[in-house]
Amino acid sequence: SFIDLLLISGGIFFVFIKNYNNLNMKNIYKNSQRNLNKAKKILNKDNIIAVPTETVYGLAGNAYSNTAIKKIYKLKKRPKTNPLIIHYYDLRGLKNDAYIDNKFLKLYKKFSPGPLTYILRKKKNSKISLIANANLKTIAVRFPKNNIIRKLLQNLQFPLAIPSANISSAVSPVSSYDVLDEFPKKLNFILDGGSSKIGLESTVVNLDGKTQILRPGAISQNQISKVLKRKISILKTTNKIKSPGQLKKHYSPGIPIKLNCKKADNKAAFIVFGKKYKNNEKNIFNLSKSGNLEEAARKLYKTFRKIKNLGFKRINIVKIPNNKIGIAINDRLRKAAY
Ligand code: AMP
Ligand code: MG
Repeated sequence: SFIDLLLISGGIFFVFIKNYNNLNMKNIYKNSQRNLNKAKKILNKDNIIAVPTETVYGLAGNAYSNTAIKKIYKLKKRPKTNPLIIHYYDLRGLKNDAYIDNKFLKLYKKFSPGPLTYILRKKKNSKISLIANANLKTIAVRFPKNNIIRKLLQNLQFPLAIPSANISSAVSPVSSYDVLDEFPKKLNFILDGGSSKIGLESTVVNLDGKTQILRPGAISQNQISKVLKRKISILKTTNKIKSPGQLKKHYSPGIPIKLNCKKADNKAAFIVFGKKYKNNEKNIFNLSKSGNLEEAARKLYKTFRKIKNLGFKRINIVKIPNNKIGIAINDRLRKAAY
């Protein structure tokens, strides 16, 4: 009868909508032993998954496997000249792949596991894929602090290459939903770990040759200088890639950004910082009402993504204080605005 037909077609429509909504969400896996085992299986087959870390979410693959590393570059559309950071559980794994010295050990004891990446001389007999470090003499290494990625690393027979889980030059994801936003189709396993605690990429320090910060991050120039007992400089951005974070255009939400604004242009989204700005207009986004730079760092990429998805065509942003993690925020803003 007509009623039956209506019910059946209604049912089909309901199932369709339900599946449509779940299509992507089903790729997000909660933190559980069962899901960690699944992640391990996928990685053992040289496939790629998304993982949480305390800095930003990343795309993880076996760092010893050319097959896995090629998949990462392809998925991200990342230039092959832009090397990846290799992630380890602890020093034991690293000793197969890189030379370590006292300077490294001092920093390691103070800041690892945590948001600090070290550039070290690669060992000749290292099994790290030559593609992963763009065939350089050095490798970038990090020991992430996030519990979920640590549990995973501890149970693997290889380190993980983990760049941020975004299309090259776009904004880094800071939640599993952001990863879906970047890869709605081509990624079917995202390990969920809530919101990234820090929200900005790691500090990168070069320890092969001149000791220098290649990319500012949550671990500051002052903190590193203190441990090494001498002033360590921050490298100025050039066109020569010594580190991916040094690319001039990076971290871009895909719409123009104007820095150091006192007020917003017509129709622009206005990113502000501190208590003197009231969030009473739809175009105002406050990174931290209390003027806390760490909160601002945590919210920056989330705010970029929100503004873009709301359909704004450009962003104006106030001047952000250039101290502590504010230095890293300003580094990302300059590159996002380039
Ligand atoms: P991301 O794309 O966020 O994973 O950032 C990658 C980071 O890797 C860059 O900021 C670089 O500092 C770093 N990197 C990786 N390998 C090297 C290397 N061999 N020499 C210098 N920097 C490297
Ligand atoms: Mg990145």
